[in-house]
Amino acid sequence: MEGSQKVEELPEGSKALDAQISGGITYRLEKVFCGKDCKGCPHGPYWYGYWKEGGRTRSKYVGKMLP
Ligand SMILES: [Zn+2]
Repeated sequence: MEGSQKVEELPEGSKALDAQISGGITYRLEKVFCGKDCKGCPHGPYWYGYWKEGGRTRSKYVGKMLP
């Protein structure tokens, strides 16, 4: 049994301000909440890329602008 590995879950629709699909990667424009003690939240919005790899969803930080 390999049940202990963390899988990043694709956030459900409501958080994304915008979304684009390119080259099999779904790019989502999202605001970021880093913690309740932060006075600057929400940050961004920033683009994140999501894609499927080996049956699980992977994600990466892209930045303020899409490449
Ligand atoms: Zn913050």
